[in-house]
Amino acid sequence: MTTSEQLFEKAKTLIPGGVNSPVRAFRAVGGTPLFIKSAKGPYVYDEDGRQYIELINSWGPMILGHAFEPVEKAVREAIQHSFSFGAPTRKEVEMAELIIDMVPSVEKVRMVNSGTEATMAAIRVARGFTGRDKIIKFEGCYHGHGDSFLIAAGSGAVTMGIPDSPGVTKATAADTLTAPYNNLAAVEVLLDNNQNQVAALILEPVVGNMGCVLPEPGFLEGLRDLCDKHGVVLIFDEVMTGFRLAKGGAQERFGVVPDMTTMGKIIGGGMPVGAYGGRKEIMDVVSPAGPVYQAGTLSGNPIAMSAGLAMLHHLNDHPDVYTQLDQIGEKLTAGFRAGLQKAGLNYTINHISSMFTLFMTERPVTNFAEAKSCDLPLFGRYFHAMLKRGVYLAPSQFESLFLSTVLTDDLIQQVIQANEESLLEAVSA
Ligand code: PMP
Repeated sequence: MTTSEQLFEKAKTLIPGGVNSPVRAFRAVGGTPLFIKSAKGPYVYDEDGRQYIELINSWGPMILGHAFEPVEKAVREAIQHSFSFGAPTRKEVEMAELIIDMVPSVEKVRMVNSGTEATMAAIRVARGFTGRDKIIKFEGCYHGHGDSFLIAAGSGAVTMGIPDSPGVTKATAADTLTAPYNNLAAVEVLLDNNQNQVAALILEPVVGNMGCVLPEPGFLEGLRDLCDKHGVVLIFDEVMTGFRLAKGGAQERFGVVPDMTTMGKIIGGGMPVGAYGGRKEIMDVVSPAGPVYQAGTLSGNPIAMSAGLAMLHHLNDHPDVYTQLDQIGEKLTAGFRAGLQKAGLNYTINHISSMFTLFMTERPVTNFAEAKSCDLPLFGRYFHAMLKRGVYLAPSQFESLFLSTVLTDDLIQQVIQANEESLLEAVSA
């Protein structure tokens, strides 16, 4: 038995499913999850001392590689002054200023401790601001585990086969309307049929949680127009795309500015941090400026702020990071496409900059229904073939991969080679 296997056996007796977040359990791909001991730069190391090239990067935050030195240094410096005050700090002011400077839609911002908290709060604020109850989300988009979002949810919810979770009341579910991604006409019908009842429309402006799915030309612009027409708060959930697709996220890259934005992952440099922000008049309904309540003992935690600030300052000061990520993404996906061609396979790759997914299907993937047409057992075999060759992918077809700046040409070649071999192994099994 490997150390990971031993730890997993024990973990299952102590923690539901042995993990603190479902997808980590490898249910979708079978086998035992790797228990990770450490990571540095482009590599993670498991409890059995094996080294893997990282293509998940903690599901996004490690955009500059693991244990990025300026972040490590900032945390070391910060811990000398105690770990939490539950009182305002200078760093929170600096953080707010930096986010507002980087993200086009954000005029005021509130820090929280996770992406889930950010989206839950954003929806409450949109409801408080508009005096309306309903929200629209897209099938296969994941916005954390808040009750309102576990309706046709993506990521771990779909991986586990429970996109509509027990425990969410019928009343909550009734207030969440859903449409297929990239389908403006469906959104228009929902808005027409629920006049003056929809508070917010929330989406991942580039989806990571059904695998990587891009907005078709005009989709984001069309949503912007529809929300304006119907007085709906447009929320971009940029927990994955924020500070990744550009320093101002997908909204900068696509030139469409939402009313509110939710953020997470990179914003904390690997520490538990989220944030939501938007137009001043919307954010000013948040307590104590306004009547919509939202709070947190550890919100704006000084250690987390120090890590996040070091990360965001680096990204803000080095715009070349984004050109570099674009190039890394181009090289890697070009190699993957060549690998598919060599193997005589016609599977779909969706890609933008440092996010991409190889879908085990020949059809284009523009929405959740199409993503679900993938050959999942084949993905499982491919995943394990890659793992065997030292490449650590997200353990589910319904996830995007996240690249980092520390993927050198040499590492990219190793991954491309592993992909070629793994495809052949997976299809011939
Ligand atoms: N929104 C999106 C788009 C996400 O990808 C995630 C997490 N993967 C969340 C919200 C929830 O964030 P967290 O896991 O930090 O609660």
